Amino acid sequence: MKDLNFSQTLSKTSFSRGRQCVKSLWLHKNKPELKTKRISEGKILKESGNPVLDLFFKKYSGGSECGRNQIEEEKDWPLAIDLTKQAIKDGVKILYNPAFFANDLLVDIHLLQKNDDGSYTAFVLKIATRISDRSLQAAAYQLFAIENSGIIISEFKFVIINNHYRLRGELNPSKLFREVSVTQKLRLLLPETITLAEKMTKVLYSKKEPQIKIGPHCTEPHTCEFQERCWGKVPSDSIFELVGFPKHSMFNFWNQGLRSIGKIPDSTTLSFNQEIQRKKIKRLDKKSLKHFFNEIKYPLFLVDFEGFLPAVPQLQGGKPFEMIPFLFSGFYIAAPHAEPIHKFHLCEPTENILSEFALKLIEAADSAQSILCYDTLTEKNVLKMLLKRLPELETTLKDLMEKMIDLSNPIKRKDFYLPEMKGHVSLKYVLPAIDSDFGYESLEIQTGRMAANTYQVIYDNMNNVEVEKHKENLIAYCRHDAIGLLKLYQSLLEEIS
Ligand code: SF4
Repeated sequence: MKDLNFSQTLSKTSFSRGRQCVKSLWLHKNKPELKTKRISEGKILKESGNPVLDLFFKKYSGGSECGRNQIEEEKDWPLAIDLTKQAIKDGVKILYNPAFFANDLLVDIHLLQKNDDGSYTAFVLKIATRISDRSLQAAAYQLFAIENSGIIISEFKFVIINNHYRLRGELNPSKLFREVSVTQKLRLLLPETITLAEKMTKVLYSKKEPQIKIGPHCTEPHTCEFQERCWGKVPSDSIFELVGFPKHSMFNFWNQGLRSIGKIPDSTTLSFNQEIQRKKIKRLDKKSLKHFFNEIKYPLFLVDFEGFLPAVPQLQGGKPFEMIPFLFSGFYIAAPHAEPIHKFHLCEPTENILSEFALKLIEAADSAQSILCYDTLTEKNVLKMLLKRLPELETTLKDLMEKMIDLSNPIKRKDFYLPEMKGHVSLKYVLPAIDSDFGYESLEIQTGRMAANTYQVIYDNMNNVEVEKHKENLIAYCRHDAIGLLKLYQSLLEEIS
């Protein structure tokens, strides 16, 4: 076997990267130090997905493990490739996570099952209820790279989650998972896949960085990690910052030499919000803001919920990807000018999680007359679900729901707007606009999705050595959100006082 040289190796992940932009692929292999430092969600995502994979493997038991499912950079590829070779040589019928390397193509796959005629059926688990075009493109690369190693794949199946499944009694993996054959679709994608893989392999051997202009591909399907390098000449108030403006129009303007939002011709039709963004001025509608605050009564509870969406239903009667709340964090303010009191609760991962969450929330809200959340959709959905599941708490939960007020409304209406919000209403933009020191960079968990995956890891494995650390990180993340809510509430209040 030719030695594995990662800088000249195409893998499934680098193939997907190269599909988006070959320059990104080249930079990733040759100048990774130029990437913008971002916290990686990949490891926790894999960790949270592994128990689902193990559950699927139970259906095809008695196989041989070739290399535990890990993020690409941490996998012991030479070992996984050797174990795969040995298992194939030994005639093993079921191979878990086999890996292959041939002609600069590196690949692994969740499961291979040997058929009587010597060919294999390939299985890829997708923790989703449907198969996206991008998943098919990545699978076409897997099919090509595995067959490139001399293995014949007679059937290629995706294993997805059956969203009609309901947990009643014992978990039934045969009903939870749905196998979908995509062999024909992948065979049709093969010619394009082979052409692209050849092009990318040439890029990997090239000493010259490909010349690619910036374009919509820089953010689709993923925000490229090399934007700082390629977008260096893009000004901070660039045309690309205009929220809700069609991408192709942005690049048309850019290619005509129109760089900043302020230079957009008056003849261009802009929405009300875009016009405000273009003017770059602070906006304050005191009358509307006062009207909003007149609705708020003390004591009040400013609160943020975190939930996770397990693919495998955890509670009796539950369905896949049902939101289960596990943490809240907020500030209780007893009266105007009273000191805000921080209250939070992180639930134990048990079958009583819903009643634990509801009871602790009711206790923390402590007869509050207003419950303030930012964009109440998640919180209201959680309360609706709790209402269904906990009829004994119906009156109290309904009362909480009726007292809920959406703190995002004055921001969405533009009662209050700062140019630093750059046209956005999400707290990730609003809070740093109010307080330039407010950011998430110092936190281990920086997004709701990462929080959900972290809790999934705790839920699946309470013996995990990192459980206590994960718990601390979750509490810190949700507390940070709650501090942000408090800051926003106080800033709005100051504007009308
Ligand atoms: S920023 Fe755009 S052009 Fe530059 S490498 Fe990334 S995707 Fe390619």
